[in-house]
Amino acid sequence: QRVNSTHSKDSGTAESTNSDNVVYKVAMLGDNGVGKSALTNQFMTSEFVAYDNDQDETESDRQHVNVLLNSEESTLEIIDRLMDNKELTDECFDAFAVVYSITDRQSYQTAVDHLYNIRHELAIKEKPTILIANKIDLVRKRKVSKEEARSVAKQYDCKYTETSAALNHHVDELLVGILSQIRLTHTPDMH
Ligand code: GDP
Ligand code: MG
Repeated sequence: QRVNSTHSKDSGTAESTNSDNVVYKVAMLGDNGVGKSALTNQFMTSEFVAYDNDQDETESDRQHVNVLLNSEESTLEIIDRLMDNKELTDECFDAFAVVYSITDRQSYQTAVDHLYNIRHELAIKEKPTILIANKIDLVRKRKVSKEEARSVAKQYDCKYTETSAALNHHVDELLVGILSQIRLTHTPDMH
């Protein structure tokens, strides 16, 4: 699944084709209404997006976004649908994005359940997993504190980030953060 080597340094142009990119799979998990679709849609408008994607995909549960980071292009395949543990295992994800809304305490509980499931039931310990507190523009309706979420993320060896898909706040950083973490896990050890 690796790129051809002529494509490493001076590329990332619109001529690049999907076939010479690495494709990394990202699962978007979380309750209905927390903003998974809104975040995914904002990913597509990021300044890191190398070129436009097929607009036919917008109704799909599987969207592709081509990200140019550090002169290297990668395709993220964002999968946003209900999955049982068999599907979560069989899809061979490279990262998990677990989203909740800071206005909805139940959605936070669901997110924590997802973290527990990934790390303990499925015993996936090495894959980057990010706990995403969305809707931080609705600060006066906040039901989950930053401290609480940060500490649960730490407990499950996850990154924590706060976003607003509505304001496009920290969404670029999230996209790039997901890709950076995936690349780190795919970099050979230098010992
Ligand atoms: P999904 O079910 O997780 O895909 O959630 P959606 O992306 O469909 O969002 C559910 C609702 O929350 C929609 O009305 C969105 O406009 C709204 N929403 C999503 N993200 C945000 C956000 O960051 N702030 C606010 N205020 N609303 C948001
Ligand atoms: Mg949705």
